[in-house]
Amino acid sequence: AETGSTNADLLARVASGDRSRALGAPTLLAAQTQTAGRGRAGRAWLTAPSAALTFSLAWPFAAPLQTLVGLPLAVGVAIAETLADFGVEVQLKWPNDVLQGGRKLAGILIETATAPDQQLWAVVGIGINLAMPEQLQEQIGRRTASLPAAAAQDRDLLLGSLLSALAQTMRQFENAGLAAFVERWNRLHAFAGQQVLILDQGKTLHEGRALGIDQIGRLLLQTDGGSSPIAIMAGDISLRPK
Ligand code: ATP
Repeated sequence: AETGSTNADLLARVASGDRSRALGAPTLLAAQTQTAGRGRAGRAWLTAPSAALTFSLAWPFAAPLQTLVGLPLAVGVAIAETLADFGVEVQLKWPNDVLQGGRKLAGILIETATAPDQQLWAVVGIGINLAMPEQLQEQIGRRTASLPAAAAQDRDLLLGSLLSALAQTMRQFENAGLAAFVERWNRLHAFAGQQVLILDQGKTLHEGRALGIDQIGRLLLQTDGGSSPIAIMAGDISLRPK
């Protein structure tokens, strides 16, 4: 019914030495109300009680650690394609956001933990806005999007569909990495061909035309005056339309 963060809960379970709490298989934890939702780099993901679909999937990750940077992109594709089945068209913002009409509808946060048996687990956290009270909107400080009422009505059905798409995505990603997702991501790219800024803690690092992602999930940016595109890694970097 209520918890601080579904990601935090599952990470603690993965790392727990207590056998009764440890996870033996992929596990979904969904919360009606999340009181301490997280974004990247310690930022907050804010939701009103019962007004968001907030859940995390813990998955024993069977692919090399260095491929993990591409996973939020594959998960973004899974969310976008599932929402399309519910009649909701969305776009993807590199590296980890789902937009509707340029506003953030959903966020993805992937964190990892190692179990006592040394198995690496990926915890895939997703928050999708079902409604956004004005007061919360002001607190977030920029306009956000929420699912249309028709799609938000049956949240269990939506959650079930997202879960099956995610499980399939995880398996496909473990077998073949990002390859199967690159074209699909680029078709959903919110800023394809547009001028954008790449920011590091508010400071502009690069400016140029966003082309799309490459085979390992880096953003290809045609900088003004540069002869060939540069490839940007998703550290704690933010993208803004110019
Ligand atoms: P940016 O959007 O600046 O590139 P980011 O993609 O790294 O940052 P995250 O860290 O994933 O963003 O998410 C946290 C940010 O999302 C917050 O700083 C806030 O601006 C915004 N935010 C928080 N809660 C919500 C919400 N429910 N809906 C939409 N946006 C939100």
